[in-house]
Amino acid sequence: MASHRCRVAAHHAVNARYRYLRLQAEADLASATPPGQFYQLRCPQTSTLQPFLLRPMSVYGTGPAAGTVEFLYAVAGAGTQALATLAEGQPMDIVGPLGRGFTLDARARRVLLVARGVGLATMAPLVGQAAQAGLAIDVLLSARSPADAMPHELLRGAQATVHAVFDSDGSSAVARVEPRLAALLAGGCDAVYTCGSERLALLLRRLLQPHPHIHAEVALEQRMACGMGVCLSCVRPFEQDGHVALQRVCREGPVFPLREMVGGWHG
Ligand SMILES: Cc1cc2nc3c(=O)[nH]c(=O)nc-3n(C[C@H](O)[C@H](O)[C@H](O)COP(=O)(O)OP(=O)(O)OC[C@H]3O[C@@H](n4cnc5c(N)ncnc54)[C@H](O)[C@@H]3O)c2cc1C
Repeated sequence: MASHRCRVAAHHAVNARYRYLRLQAEADLASATPPGQFYQLRCPQTSTLQPFLLRPMSVYGTGPAAGTVEFLYAVAGAGTQALATLAEGQPMDIVGPLGRGFTLDARARRVLLVARGVGLATMAPLVGQAAQAGLAIDVLLSARSPADAMPHELLRGAQATVHAVFDSDGSSAVARVEPRLAALLAGGCDAVYTCGSERLALLLRRLLQPHPHIHAEVALEQRMACGMGVCLSCVRPFEQDGHVALQRVCREGPVFPLREMVGGWHG
């Protein structure tokens, strides 16, 4: 893990809630950052916003230049509001890459990705990797409304079958998503990956019970402070071999075996 001084190479709004940020570092970040890993971003201080903690952000993309790393983020609280003020050309410090990323099962031929909201930023590099490996890809993309869904930002030119569901028309309700996910899991899926919704992750965990052969991983967006395993603020319980094991999301995760996830945890 290392700290990198970067330059803001591009920074613009994607829609009303999401922004795209491309940074350029001296170091080779592209080959060092597999899908699912994240960086801690030092947000700027403004006259009204003084975010103290660094903010964790998944890597949305890397390359083609060795020092290029991309992020896609929702503007929410103080840190991301301050981040949104960064102008192109300004310096910015990031720490990472951090955590454990996704494992693309080498035997998989068809994968299912389930993303909700900004969870799609975490999934986008995995879509790219799966497409490059020639896998068939199904995506269930859940969002507040069609304007928030961003299928093009998720796929970035990769071929996949996208099943979009929305809060605005009720199609994202668990009762309506359940039969669609069950059919996708039963339709020759070898591996499933999810990020962005605890509700969807727990639904998937339940639907996976009759499919023990399907590899399943979840990327968790737990609140965290240090991001490197020291402060223990992101510890949460997991179920391992019938026992409860406490793990740090920043260090042992943020990607975990989905079947080990314990629901109802709001640490
Ligand atoms: C691994 C990971 C990847 C993520 N990837 C993305 C992404 O790609 N795009 C995206 O939009 N969002 C992502 N997030 C979420 C993103 O980090 C938060 O949306 C962001 O931190 C919100 O920051 P804020 O400054 O807008 O909100 P605020 O509410 O101002 O700050 C939230 C931040 O406060 C700190 N914090 C507050 N309370 C506590 C506490 N009790 N314990 C510890 N820390 C606390 C943390 O730094 C937290 O990140 C990710 C989160 C994680 C953990």
